Amino acid sequence: MATSTQISRAIIPPAETSRVHIQQLVQKQREFFNRQGTLDLEFRKQQLNKLLQAVRQKEQQITEALYADFRKPPFESFATEIGFIDLELKHTLRNLDKWAKPKGVKETLLNFPGKSYILPEPYGLTLLIAPWNYPFQLMMAPLIGAVAAGNCALLKPSELTPHISAVIADLVQENFAEEHIAVVQGGVPTTQHLLEQHFDYIFFTGSTKVGKIIMKAAAETLTPVTLELGGKSPAIVTEDADLELAARRITWGKFVNAGQTCVAPDYVLVQEQVKEEFVQLLAQTIKTFYGDFPAESPDFARIVNKDHFNRLKSYLNDGNIRAGGETDEHDLYIAPTVMDQVTWQQPVMQEEIFGPILPVLTFRNLQEAIQTVNKRERPLALYVFSSSKSKQNLVLDSIPFGGGCINDTLSHLANPNLPFGGVGSSGMGSYHGQTSFNLFSHQKSILKRGTWLDLPLRYPPYGNRLSMLQKFFQWL
Ligand code: NAD
Repeated sequence: MATSTQISRAIIPPAETSRVHIQQLVQKQREFFNRQGTLDLEFRKQQLNKLLQAVRQKEQQITEALYADFRKPPFESFATEIGFIDLELKHTLRNLDKWAKPKGVKETLLNFPGKSYILPEPYGLTLLIAPWNYPFQLMMAPLIGAVAAGNCALLKPSELTPHISAVIADLVQENFAEEHIAVVQGGVPTTQHLLEQHFDYIFFTGSTKVGKIIMKAAAETLTPVTLELGGKSPAIVTEDADLELAARRITWGKFVNAGQTCVAPDYVLVQEQVKEEFVQLLAQTIKTFYGDFPAESPDFARIVNKDHFNRLKSYLNDGNIRAGGETDEHDLYIAPTVMDQVTWQQPVMQEEIFGPILPVLTFRNLQEAIQTVNKRERPLALYVFSSSKSKQNLVLDSIPFGGGCINDTLSHLANPNLPFGGVGSSGMGSYHGQTSFNLFSHQKSILKRGTWLDLPLRYPPYGNRLSMLQKFFQWL
């Protein structure tokens, strides 16, 4: 693996894509979909297999691109991007036949004789928009669901990570017909051209602010949307938790990808009597993970660009630094940092941090912690560290949030059988595994009626059949 000095981190955004080119792509995909080009299940499996092989072949290029974009450590690139997609593809390929089958449902006597079932049907043209923080995984994971369900897809990777955006464009161009899957590179103007088109489904991952723009645009054509957004995800640590383990798992979940993770613990709420011990454990764990000089660690990523660097750097004035706090503008480096003495009025607690800064706040009793979280927008993730089942359950029952873990961070995403998504301002809709297949399929409800019996009860003239009908409904 090359070092940071060998790879240029100059961020040259990809050129914008013209409206005309986008219109042509949409038209080609529409024609292909209307010819039922994507309907055949074998075709879909072939394409997913092709994607699996392509990802494996390009593993080195993907790793290098992620390194060039924000010096993502190769271990993390494999664990959270390439390996993740490999597993999701294998899981989908193993189960697709089962998921795609029509599903029978219990019949009602009202429709006797008859049989009811649900036919999963592709929506048609899907637009998939990805952010920069897991730029490969978050572009490919929805693509797997869209293709498995038999849709065409237009992909818009983030312009802030141009190296991986280019690799994704090559991978798709080399392996797929553009009438089925195509990549459109560019920034806001390109996304605006895309949003002028009529898609059948829009899947967006990114900020809550841009999520609102996407939903407004989709409303014009009544296009269904999934919004995978962000927010402030808390980690709650009670006094009876295994503090060492909690410190390790929170340090890992916070500083992987340099904190640029939508489900990273944004801040810690720790019970006040163990706060001091916990802060010290966090500081020690940072040293164990990244050494005395995390800037020299090969296992710690950089901030994606100067704007984000400056935004994060300004948060360092919002409290008392207990670990880290060093910055290097030239290298877009911010050390893994723990802060205390922060208040909810300060910017670091008003916005999603999305970087390697971990504020630690305290609570006296669990009800207070619950109220603190519930006063704010619904989090995408929540982590509770406690050895008490009743405390764990109290948190789960009292706070609405997208998903999370008991005594861990981030790892709920590793299970494809768990739907992943937010609630309220952290998003709508969820995906991964079969949930992705279902998300990208319209559930077409069908009743197949028997023809050998046709009871006249429902047909006019109704005469005096009302009371008979009422009795029948009571009996049902
Ligand atoms: P972003 O919203 O700025 O950008 C996401 C995408 O939208 C990009 O492709 C970008 O080109 C496009 N875009 C940006 N501004 C636009 C505009 N005005 N009009 C139309 N399109 C526009 O998000 P980001 O900075 O790339 O990513 C960080 C955010 O994403 C964080 O809030 C994070 O929590 C969230 N996120 C959520 C998940 C999840 O799965 N829920 C995953 C990763 C990131």
